Amino acid sequence: MNSFKMLIGVVLLALAISSPLHAAPVVCVDPGHPSEISAGASAGRLTERHLAWVVALKLKAILSSRGVSVVMTKTRERELVTNRHRAEIANAAGAAAMIRLHCDAGAGRGFTWYYPDHAATKDGVTGPPPDVCEHSRLLAATMRETMTPLLAGHLASNPVKTDAATHVGAGQGGVLTGSIFARVPTALIEMCFLNQRGDAAYLASEAGQNEMASALAAGVMAYLARTPRSEDLNGPR
Ligand SMILES: [Zn+2]
Repeated sequence: MNSFKMLIGVVLLALAISSPLHAAPVVCVDPGHPSEISAGASAGRLTERHLAWVVALKLKAILSSRGVSVVMTKTRERELVTNRHRAEIANAAGAAAMIRLHCDAGAGRGFTWYYPDHAATKDGVTGPPPDVCEHSRLLAATMRETMTPLLAGHLASNPVKTDAATHVGAGQGGVLTGSIFARVPTALIEMCFLNQRGDAAYLASEAGQNEMASALAAGVMAYLARTPRSEDLNGPR
């Protein structure tokens, strides 16, 4: 072997050692609103758009510190991104999970996770596929299970629901737009009820936002530990 061939060999070996078979997992964090549907809920000076944005930034920081590669669907708080495009950003990133952050308004209390359990058709596209539904169910269940004890005493934990239980989902075959176009596991959290005094005071506080982000991150890490890697899930299709 001449020295050139030996050099090539050394370079290839170095590349093989420095490129692990599995790269860092990618998670898509989707701060809800504004979208084509709505600017988001509000109660007094508190807006769903702002709370989702600040919690998303905190979640991104925690996940990044744990070796997760985070892709955001928005680059600034007031950026309008359609729900279809939000899903497409997660798909393009090959995300292991898409975490969608929202807040509710109404008669309830606490946080609620939603996931798609079947496909629907919108703009000629049908989805999500069955394997994405199955992993979305596991994602929502794992997030709720992990977060419940971490937020106990601050926010009530509601049972996991399907997209069909949402206003928008109910109107289009029981599936949210962001789910129809998702080709990666997706789950949506309504973090609290903005119009309820206790819920609002907690999530409006810096401490509450930090605890919510920490609980979300713990849920994501638990899900990543439970599920096949995204590249396996996104295999032959
Ligand atoms: Zn919302």
